[in-house]
Amino acid sequence: MRRLRSLLCCIAAASAGSIAVHSQSQSRGPSGVVVYEGARLIVGDGSAPIDGGAFVVRDGHISAIGRKGAVNVPGGAAHVDLTGKTVMPAMINVHVHIGYEGYTSWGAENYTPQNVLDHLQREAFYGTGATQSVGSSPTDASLQFQRDQAAGKFPPASRFFFMPGMAPPGGGPDAVLRVATTALHVVNEVSTAPEARAAVQAMAAKKIRNVKIWVDDRRGTYPKMTPEVYNAIIDEAHKHRMMVHAHATTLPDQKAVVRAGADVVVHLVQGEKLDDEYLALLKEKKPYWATVIGLGDRTDVCDPDPFFEVALPPSLVARIRATTEPRPLAPSCGPPSPNAPRREEIIAYNFPRMISAGARIVLGTDTGIQPGHTFGSGEHHELARWVQLGLTPAQAIVAATERPAELMGLKDMGTLAIGKRADFIVLDANPLDDIRNTRKISSVYLDGAKFDRDAMLAKWTAAAGSR
Ligand SMILES: [Zn+2]
Repeated sequence: MRRLRSLLCCIAAASAGSIAVHSQSQSRGPSGVVVYEGARLIVGDGSAPIDGGAFVVRDGHISAIGRKGAVNVPGGAAHVDLTGKTVMPAMINVHVHIGYEGYTSWGAENYTPQNVLDHLQREAFYGTGATQSVGSSPTDASLQFQRDQAAGKFPPASRFFFMPGMAPPGGGPDAVLRVATTALHVVNEVSTAPEARAAVQAMAAKKIRNVKIWVDDRRGTYPKMTPEVYNAIIDEAHKHRMMVHAHATTLPDQKAVVRAGADVVVHLVQGEKLDDEYLALLKEKKPYWATVIGLGDRTDVCDPDPFFEVALPPSLVARIRATTEPRPLAPSCGPPSPNAPRREEIIAYNFPRMISAGARIVLGTDTGIQPGHTFGSGEHHELARWVQLGLTPAQAIVAATERPAELMGLKDMGTLAIGKRADFIVLDANPLDDIRNTRKISSVYLDGAKFDRDAMLAKWTAAAGSR
């Protein structure tokens, strides 16, 4: 009996100890207020960084920010020393396809709340605080997931957003995505303007704020949405203060959707150079623009880099590296396709012209279609691509933080400022010097709590081992 009692005592002490360690790792003072001090602060609005900065977090929100010494720190606050680090806002990704990737399989059979959560945890692991799935998520299940996440039923992860998609019967998503979305009846298939208006009205009744349309015949293999239908969708959406995200990959289709009033253009024209007519149209309309360049690039998994591999099963990484034949919409590490130099030349021509004409670039990656270009890491690929194509690192960070928050109406996200959620990335090096330094992640905080990246890695490693 005495032995049992002493054993119980020790279990109690051990668990008390682990609770103490846990609360220490959350770094909250007795008042629940924390000051993070000493880091260079990148606000996310393009302003000059604050060197030797400090910010106070209370109840998951930033309550003060400025230079260390100039910020009023409440008594009893816990102090976290971030000297030598750089802090930037968590990123916001406006364009992914969530739920279908299983890393050893892909498809509708993987679509569960647990898998959606896993993908959002991958986004958080890599520093993304809000993630929007576009046109490929089942509406009612997604609304339920949002309610559950807002009610705190899930462990910490990137905040989930989604929008329904609309296409002509038999059209819409690419060949890979279509298999899954067809199985789950995700895409709203509409043939006429009245059908289109009715579908948008039904979305508005569910308080959905965005809708995606595909305007693409996939080189003559798909029916393409007609102007009559997309004009009706855009008009009806705007009546309900909804925004329309338009997938269009050719110059005539991008012109058409921008002229029709689409709010967000998805994709970069990669097959032809932009002309003055389109640039004038962009100047007039100033649409948001989700570039999603990375999906067409060679996967980062081809080159040994722990940053891109760490969350993936080693067997998958090995399989991708061993694949050398070109595979559209699937990863391959063979020689670049014969089209690659031409694509690159056109991208280099079009990208800066889109920007200077006034397209408002926002972070979108198209991740979730194939495992070589995946949740969270794809953001860092896209940022580096933008800088390679002419953005400054500061502009790239604005396009990954403040501007997507503005597009999505997330008033409490996107910058390091008073009143914003304390969603931020602590980096070991300065991304304003080299945008690839966004990959040197020391830690990620969501709602003022440190996201447990080590626990996530342990989970993914264990899952890979059980396969
Ligand atoms: Zn997409």
